Amino acid sequence: MSTAHDVEAVRLLIEARGHHILPAGAELLDWLGAWIEPARIEQLVHALGTLPCQFCDKGLNRCEACDPSAASETCVQCLGFGRSRCDFCSGTGLAAYDFLPMELWTGVIGRRTKLAASLAGTLLRQPMPCLDDPHAQKHLHDRLVNANKLLSVFENAVSAADALATQNAEAASRLRGTRDECFRIAGGLETRARDCLRVLAMLSRDQASPEASDSPPRHRSEFLESLADSPGFEKTMLAHPCLFDQAT
Ligand SMILES: [Zn+2]
Ligand SMILES: [Zn+2]
Repeated sequence: MSTAHDVEAVRLLIEARGHHILPAGAELLDWLGAWIEPARIEQLVHALGTLPCQFCDKGLNRCEACDPSAASETCVQCLGFGRSRCDFCSGTGLAAYDFLPMELWTGVIGRRTKLAASLAGTLLRQPMPCLDDPHAQKHLHDRLVNANKLLSVFENAVSAADALATQNAEAASRLRGTRDECFRIAGGLETRARDCLRVLAMLSRDQASPEASDSPPRHRSEFLESLADSPGFEKTMLAHPCLFDQAT
């Protein structure tokens, strides 16, 4: 199957499920197994795993919480970036699990986690940008947004694995290692997100005029600095309650 055919096959599968044309539960896997070669089922799972969300641009949408009348304050939700996580896919940029046949979630969780782990490895190996790099702010923003997107993928995978576990003990045991891996990598991404926030705070402080004690860059610097040390990034787009401890 080509990529275009993959997407078409996935759309047909989801549509057919929605119209109850295909069997449900374990029978769906039997049905697929009878009609499609194992290698093609793998391709189908890959296509489902990478199917993009239709409601956002790579996991982000315009932030609804930004208040133009409070321009001197940094928007808590989007950290002043102007774009926040998509409500439909929780910021993964991928079709929500609820949109996919639950019978294939195990494969999709495995596939998405593997891809995200590889991207997280690349991101965590990148050195932090130098402060005198004129594009440092953009690099830090991009890195923070990318780390947050991967955290969303791991959080969704954990939530989907937990939802599956309530119905299927075998799937729960099969996904235990994957679930542990999600938490392990999320820990590294969380640390990197905090590093990015601290350096962004320093850059904002450098932009603030020393005479103006309440300028927007100074507010932003203080906000980012306190966020870097907040337990679960609560009320912001960096919050991932399934992965991080919340303040008690
Ligand atoms: Zn905002
Ligand atoms: Zn989305």
